[in-house]
Amino acid sequence: MTDIIKLLPDSVANQIAAGEVIQRPASVIKELVENALDAGADKIDIVVKDAGRTLVSVIDNGCGMSDTDARLCFERHATSKIKTADDLFKLRTMGFRGEALASIAAVAQVELMTKRGTDEIGTKIVIEGSVVKEQTVKPMAKGTHIHVKNLFFNVPARRNFLKSNEVEMRHVVEEFTRIAIINPEVSFTLTSNDKEMFHLYGGTLKQRIVGLFGKEYDGRLLPVGQETNSVAISGFIVKPEFSKKTRGEQYFFANKRFIKHSYLHHAVENAFQELLPKDSFPGYFIDIEVDPKNIDVNIHPTKTEVNFIDVKLVYAILHAAVRKAIGQHNLAPLLDFSVDTDVNAAFDQASMMDKPITQPHIDFNPSYNPFRNATPKSNGENWRILYESHDARVENDENQGENENDNLNTTTSNDQDGLYLQLQQSFIVTAMRSGLMVIDQHLAHERILFDKFLKQIENHNVPSQQELFPHNINLSAGDASLLKEIRPELEQIGFTIEPMGLTTFVVKGTPADLKETDILSVVENILETCKNGAGAKMGKSFSIARSMASQSAVKYGQRLTVAEMRDMVDRLFACPVPETAPNGKRIFTILDVNELKNKLAQS
Ligand code: ADP
Ligand code: MG
Repeated sequence: MTDIIKLLPDSVANQIAAGEVIQRPASVIKELVENALDAGADKIDIVVKDAGRTLVSVIDNGCGMSDTDARLCFERHATSKIKTADDLFKLRTMGFRGEALASIAAVAQVELMTKRGTDEIGTKIVIEGSVVKEQTVKPMAKGTHIHVKNLFFNVPARRNFLKSNEVEMRHVVEEFTRIAIINPEVSFTLTSNDKEMFHLYGGTLKQRIVGLFGKEYDGRLLPVGQETNSVAISGFIVKPEFSKKTRGEQYFFANKRFIKHSYLHHAVENAFQELLPKDSFPGYFIDIEVDPKNIDVNIHPTKTEVNFIDVKLVYAILHAAVRKAIGQHNLAPLLDFSVDTDVNAAFDQASMMDKPITQPHIDFNPSYNPFRNATPKSNGENWRILYESHDARVENDENQGENENDNLNTTTSNDQDGLYLQLQQSFIVTAMRSGLMVIDQHLAHERILFDKFLKQIENHNVPSQQELFPHNINLSAGDASLLKEIRPELEQIGFTIEPMGLTTFVVKGTPADLKETDILSVVENILETCKNGAGAKMGKSFSIARSMASQSAVKYGQRLTVAEMRDMVDRLFACPVPETAPNGKRIFTILDVNELKNKLAQS
């Protein structure tokens, strides 16, 4: 029998490869504009005819190519951007596969003109269906012009697969938008059938968003920014009240590359929470900068899908950043009904940190290694993976009594994996894979209780404790009628309240979770929260749960045992939104190992 395996000719191989990279005119624009950006251009002009079917031109003022490179760039796997496999982990460029120009030249008629700054004269190449038709010299300014004509001229099946001009043009504009947003310092024009659709001057990200989406966006954007040593988040969100009923202005970028990421989308959506009008979608333009070695962009031919190495951390930071942005612009205060005196107490405590303190006594295990990697649990609970110590924690509560120091209540387990420590009787410190997590004990508990109370109200679940001595409370006429109105909800979370006359009530039972003994002040606080909440579209249930959670949560200054700390952390991360308290405040922060390493290296 004769051998039957043959190597495909390059032109055929390129045509097959083109199917992955070049699906429609918009893909040509993406690839060519990315090349222009990689070439350092700060002015890029794009021209399309018939939605790009008959012509896509991209003209840049970037570094240009030598005559040899001008010929070579159409070869498959021809790239100037990586040399070794190692370079894949340091990528800052948009391209690196060396496929785009080879693919485009396989399925279109291409004219390339290019000149480097140092060259006297440029080069012109004409190539059709991977066959070079012409190579001549060309006088021109520094930069590169590429004209891609009659896309899929030699692949009728693909040409027929293209949609109407309107649909294809929508793809073109979307692709243009994705690139233009995140490169605001670059000037762009987009011209379609001789009509200029966009003329964008170099400027700030905000100016670029306004240039693309319209003047009214000037007042609709809230800046987002959060930086740790491993992740930097920047950009804008659209104020919740301007959210659209259609998905649309949702742009994530990873190292300035447009990406789609449903998990991170969830982080943003979740951060908007109660503020998002029903059936609306949040708008955002957010760039996530990470060290290229912590991201894999090479999992998809068009690179719109990426893998972050520590996606849980990115999620947490992103969520907190969006939450903070909303909070800082006086939107979250809509949710913040009561003045939380405990928070002020925390500040007082924090300022005491400067005062001289006696050497704390710390129990520690010298063989404890926080950098050790444990096998994450695969039970689908995302947050669990953060905690390498989760499985193997051992309590050591006996130490609690011995610890005389008030500022630093520390306890470590006698196992190598666990660490729980209470700082200033306000913060829980615990070890996680990428560093140390510092959790605000009051806010954490508030989040836990809020979720619990809200659920109880919704599910009509009534764990009540009967008061030995019923309390009588007297209210103003207005408060009395409000209390009557919210009585059903209060009963659902465990209150037993009966009216006695017009403005007097007798409280016969209170929720089991409520530690507070001053029932009058608890009730007044709830009423106050409801009054403020009503104006802010918040339901009664929300207001009641918010007030109850704030009043029942552990206070600053309250000592916690290891078992309590562990329980708190576990319950917090079982909440759907563990990052923020119901009032929008951040519950925890992460001291990143890399940051610590850098700090130590600097000293
Ligand atoms: P990749 O971008 O993955 O390297 P391409 O096929 O898109 O592959 O481009 C191949 C090479 O051609 C690039 O690596 C670059 O060296 C060169 N090149 C392409 N477009 C331009 C341009 N507009 N300006 C300068 N050089 C370019
Ligand atoms: Mg490229």
